[in-house]
Order: sequence, then C-alpha cells, then structure tokens
Amino acid sequence: MTEELRLADRTNRLGTETAFEVLARAKSLEATGLRIVHLEIGEPDFRTAEHIVEAAVLALKEGWHHYTPSPGIPSLREAIAEHVSATRRIDVDPAEVVVTLGAKPIIFYSLLSLAQKGDDVIYPDPGFPIYESMIRFVGARPVPVKLREEKDFRMDVEELVGAAGPATRLIILNSPNNPTGSVMGQDDLRMLANSFADRNVIFLSDEIYSRILYDGAPTSIASFPGMKDRTIILDGFSKTYAMTGWRLGYGVMNRRLAQTFTKLMINSNSCTPAFTQMAAIAALRGDQAPVAKMVDTFRKRRDRVVELLNRIEGVSCRKPRGAFYVFPNVRALGKTSEEIAKLLLDEQGVAVLSGNAFGGYGEGYLRLSYAASMEELEEGVARIAEFAKQMASRQPCH
Ligand code: PLP
Repeated sequence: MTEELRLADRTNRLGTETAFEVLARAKSLEATGLRIVHLEIGEPDFRTAEHIVEAAVLALKEGWHHYTPSPGIPSLREAIAEHVSATRRIDVDPAEVVVTLGAKPIIFYSLLSLAQKGDDVIYPDPGFPIYESMIRFVGARPVPVKLREEKDFRMDVEELVGAAGPATRLIILNSPNNPTGSVMGQDDLRMLANSFADRNVIFLSDEIYSRILYDGAPTSIASFPGMKDRTIILDGFSKTYAMTGWRLGYGVMNRRLAQTFTKLMINSNSCTPAFTQMAAIAALRGDQAPVAKMVDTFRKRRDRVVELLNRIEGVSCRKPRGAFYVFPNVRALGKTSEEIAKLLLDEQGVAVLSGNAFGGYGEGYLRLSYAASMEELEEGVARIAEFAKQMASRQPCH
C-alpha cells in the first residue's frame, strides 16, 4: 500500500490489556530456552468440566450448527435468569438477559449505548483496563475513583459520590475486583444505592468474579430497592467454569437496554455460537462441585502466596477476598512498577503485570495471578524474593 493509512480518530483512543503483551514476550523468552513462571494470566489453570465439554460435543452432533436468536437461545436465557435471580435475590426475566461472546462485549455495549462526548463515566482505578479504554473510545470523560490500599482496595463510597456530577451517566463497579481482589460489602452498596436513588445514573456492575469469593455470598448493587432497572449486571462463564477460550458471557439489564444490546449484537456478531450456548446451559444446570473445588484450591494458593510475599523485605501484600489475583505493594524496592515487572521477566523469568497497567493509581504495585500450580507460585515468589534481595544490595546506603 503506497497511500497513507487514515485511521479514524477514535482508534487513537483505544487502550489495551497488557496481559496479552506480557504473555507474548514471556513466550518469546521461553522459545529461547528460558524457564518462565507465568503469573500474568487472568484465567483459571483448570480444564472446563467434562460434563460441559460433553454437552458441547453432543450439541454439535445433534446439529446445533446455525444462527441462534441474537440475544441468546431462550432456554439459556431462562437458565441465566434463574441463576441471577437466585444469587442476587432479584426477579430477572429471560427478556432481560443478553448472551454475548465473553463478558467483554457487555462493557463495550454499555459504553456504546450510554455514554458519549460530554458525559462522565466513573470507574475503579486500579481497574480492568478495558473500562478506561472504552470510555475514551466513545468520547466520554473517564473519572477514576482511587482504590486505596488502606481500605483493602475497596471503592470508597464517599469518594465515589464526591466524584459524581451532573454529567455522570454511568458508574462502573467491579466486585470482586481485578486486579486487587477487593470486595464491596453490603453496607457500602446500600449507601451507594441510597446516594443515587433519585439520580439518572446507570450502574455497570462487573460481577465476572462473583463465584470466586472466599467468604460471604455475592453482593450486587442490583439487589437494593429500585436499583435493578438501573443496573447492568455483567457476568459470564470464563472465570467460574474455566471457559475463557469458549467466549461466553452475558448481561442482565432492563428490557429497553436489552433491546439496544440485542441490536448491537445483530450489528456485530449476529449471535453467540449455538453449541457453546448449549454447553452454557449444562454449566449452569449441571454439577457445581468443580466450581467449589476450584475456589477451594484458589483459597489455599491465595493464603500461601500472601504469606510468602509478606516474608519478602520491601514487599507487603493484603489478603484479597475474591478473584485470583494479589496486588502487592513494591514501592520499597525503589523502582517503578513497570521497571520491576520488566526486570522480573528479564532477569528472573517471572511474568507479572505492572500495577499501572490497571490505571495510574496502580503505580507502586504488581499484579500476580495465582491461577498457577502451588509449585509454580512458590517458585515465582522465590524468584521475586531473590530479586528483592538484589535490589536491596544495589540500593545506595544512607
Ligand atoms: N471483567 C473483568 C474484571 C475481567 O477481569 C475480565 C477478564 O479478564 C472480563 C470482564 C472479561 O471476561 P471475558 O473473558 O468473559 O470476556
């Protein structure tokens, strides 16, 4: 091509997810023969349960080869409505469910449907990087609310209320949170619901980690009086059922919004693949023991990794209450998060993410995923300890 490629301006506002870039770099180092410990990936290291795989195979054999209704197969929408009604203690109608290819499109569609130039969107920082990317992409103004370590990285409701102004259209919540593992409690959510009771604001409640919770039941802003119709619940199969590669997610929202999201589905993907939707029904209606087993394994790993990290001089780590990430403070190591993440990969062969990949307030932290075997985790943290020791000896004495 000889002419200059003229991309639309909005493409310059797209961000990315560093996890995929770090994974690619780690893989290329691996190709040179280095042994890399992977603590960067945000996906369960478990196989999808056999009964779910079998349901997909059976669906293919039975002829589920064609388009489905754009918002999803009716029996799957029913199963999701039942599941969300029971877990959030609300009354969800299948017409309020839209099935998507992974849960990510729910973020995309929420921003496309509800925010534009002149609007403010509030979101957690550190937070899933796609929020800020999509807010900017649609031309709205990103308004981050800092998740503070001293508050166990829970969103401070007073700060959030203070950040909201007349231009606020959408507030994104994420509990359990990626990357910190923090969980919003009932009291905070109640206060939030009361504060916004008479304001025309929609909540996007990202609950993708709702089942990866170490104590208590899942909580949702949608459960509070008057909030259901003003909340988009995002959830899916990727994390709970170790199905990241299947691309299966959903949103629950009021009917009017569900119609708009359906139009966006028609304009983008037409529908989610039929046989994976059949597998999703098996996931929701079938044996839940593999989920409990996975969460139990994550709990043990969390406890161990937090204990080991806190033994390292210059590193301190809170105990997360959900998801499968830890977010240790590494400020005392005397380098930026990005420098530390890069050195850890290059010098120690440990792939982790820099805290600021999750927003400016993530500076001073690293994100480690403990979706790795106990042996890998112990090896990874031992390498981080070795790195911290070297850093301490390199620092000038005062
Ligand atoms: N929301 C959060 C907070 C996530 O961490 C992720 C995945 O990493 C998603 C949404 C997207 O999930 P999916 O893979 O189902 O698109």
